[in-house]
Amino acid sequence: MDKNMDKIINYINEGNYFLVTSHVNPDGDNIGSTLSMYYYLKSINKEVYYVLDDDTPINLKFLLEDIEILSSEEFIKLNLEEFNLIALDCGDLNRICIDKTLIENAKKLICIDHHASNDNYGDFNYVVPEESSTCELVYNLFKKINEKENTQVIDKKIATALYTGVVTDTGKFTYSNTHPSTFDMAKDLLILGAETNKVICEVYGNNPYNYYKLLGEALNTLDIINTKIAVITLTQDMLSRNHVSFKDTDGITPYCRDIENVEVGILVKEKSSNEIKISLRSKNYVDVSHIAKMFNGGGHVRAAGLTVFNETIENATKMVVAETLKYI
Ligand code: 5GP
Ligand code: MN
Repeated sequence: MDKNMDKIINYINEGNYFLVTSHVNPDGDNIGSTLSMYYYLKSINKEVYYVLDDDTPINLKFLLEDIEILSSEEFIKLNLEEFNLIALDCGDLNRICIDKTLIENAKKLICIDHHASNDNYGDFNYVVPEESSTCELVYNLFKKINEKENTQVIDKKIATALYTGVVTDTGKFTYSNTHPSTFDMAKDLLILGAETNKVICEVYGNNPYNYYKLLGEALNTLDIINTKIAVITLTQDMLSRNHVSFKDTDGITPYCRDIENVEVGILVKEKSSNEIKISLRSKNYVDVSHIAKMFNGGGHVRAAGLTVFNETIENATKMVVAETLKYI
């Protein structure tokens, strides 16, 4: 992996124009890793654009106050002659949340990611499934740059962005992807000025009243199957009735897993009339990435996701529950 990091560092040093981006349905690791790479590239005087064709959750807006995220359309209008693409936290090529033509037209594609399902789709790949988060990979890369160039590239803003990604992807350092190296990184980020209290307050401690009304309705749909599978359902009706956006519902996911005897939690969300997004979480032994893969999704052993198109919520749920039953 050291070699891969070296290649990426050298390549970045030679380039001038960069587009940084991540996956659809942005989360803390997605934004934290992309933003820290954006800040780093700016700091070494590269021309860098943050492009993402999706809305960002309100609990992560505090990270994005000083920067502008462009849509693909806005980026295309800039008419850059050439640019390199850095995709962070994207498990597969078709989850990169920008226009396909931009992926095709990029001079080189650099992929930095920690999903087990990643098939090294980039021209340069730094992919380590064992790592807690893509933010931990970006941190490793920055540390390597520090060593090579005898500098310190992690400032307060970068430290705060990286800390957000690691906190969210590890469930505040509670999930099995939390390793000794994760705590080492967290300690270092604290020393470098990460605003840890701000991160926790903004991400977890600032939910609007309506969010709790929605959570109440969501919990009322809780269904337990064979004692080991829990299903919670969120419909478009529930979202609109409570004035909560689809992108602001990630906090509900852990509830379907954190139940006595339950091994697999399934959160079924109606994204639109023909698109059902399903989040899978497991506690001890089921590899939910295998279940997700059966439906062209992917992810990690304990957290994975998939989308079912053109099916009713009931059918999509039945299909995924039937597959899950094979694993418990
Ligand atoms: P979530 O359920 O919170 O959306 O996602 C859990 C994990 O699975 C995240 O790491 C996310 O990137 C990944 N994931 C979610 N949906 C998909 C999908 O449709 N395809 C792939 N490859 N990964 C997904
Ligand atoms: Mn991640």
